[in-house]
Amino acid sequence: MLISEVGPRDGLQNCAATMPLDIKKKWIAAEAAAGVTEIEVGSFVSRKLLPQMADTGDVVEFAKTIPGLTVAVLVPNMRGAEAAVAAGAHKVTLPLSVSETHSLKNIRRTHDQVIDEARAIAEYFSGLPADERPHFEGSLSTAFGCTLEGPIELSTILRLAERLLEAGCDEIGVSDTTGYGDPASIRTMIREVRGVVGDDKLQGVHLHNTRGLGLANALAAFEEGITTFDSSLGGLGGCPTAPGASGNIVTEDLVFMFESMGVATGIDLEKLLKCREIVAAGVPDEELYGFLPRAGLPLGFVGAG
Ligand code: ZN
Repeated sequence: MLISEVGPRDGLQNCAATMPLDIKKKWIAAEAAAGVTEIEVGSFVSRKLLPQMADTGDVVEFAKTIPGLTVAVLVPNMRGAEAAVAAGAHKVTLPLSVSETHSLKNIRRTHDQVIDEARAIAEYFSGLPADERPHFEGSLSTAFGCTLEGPIELSTILRLAERLLEAGCDEIGVSDTTGYGDPASIRTMIREVRGVVGDDKLQGVHLHNTRGLGLANALAAFEEGITTFDSSLGGLGGCPTAPGASGNIVTEDLVFMFESMGVATGIDLEKLLKCREIVAAGVPDEELYGFLPRAGLPLGFVGAG
């Protein structure tokens, strides 16, 4: 079971304040020390658009010094992919919003243009020496519905999954960017996308907890054989369109669910809970979410080990 911490990227890019670089480093080091083996540490986007991510190059450079940690980043385009390679990221994710309206509004690109970009990036990566070549994921965002378009036709989503793979992505991810998914739609989506790209090409999901179904959805995905789960410490970032709701699944609660079930995550919950203090100090105005952090571990709790 791989828990991929996305707080330093998905969490922080939704915060009004910018977390200082030294606190980002402390956070990443502390989570890695707690046993988290993959962290999405930032995104290579325009500084003007997301000043919170302006130091991603430095963050990657630091994170790469931590033994055993897979350093992941998000990129919107080729320029971002080049920056990711220059910094030495191990894993690069390119999001493709399955809602074309959302894609046009967010990055001013049609589906065809994003697929072309994916192909160009894959070609660029394949020309690199093996030890500099990042793992390349194409992520289907707004897969369970878009705030502008509502539900997206399944056939559209499946075709895009197929095209991302054809363009040269190593792996396809499914993202419930808007928190519209439910356990049944999560199951259906995983089966359908796997039917098109193959089981081994869909290993990870990115789920949000906007409407409180995050853990139920994660469990449904787990039962479908998904092995990588994105989550954010303290559910950091919230959701601008749903006040009071966390954005991503809360890492602490997700790890607690799996460990309670006897599914090993390799993460030490006591150490993980301590990381919250660092995040709280780095973005003091942000609310941190989570049930486990409030209630504490049950008496006599033993994890999966
Ligand atoms: Zn997200």
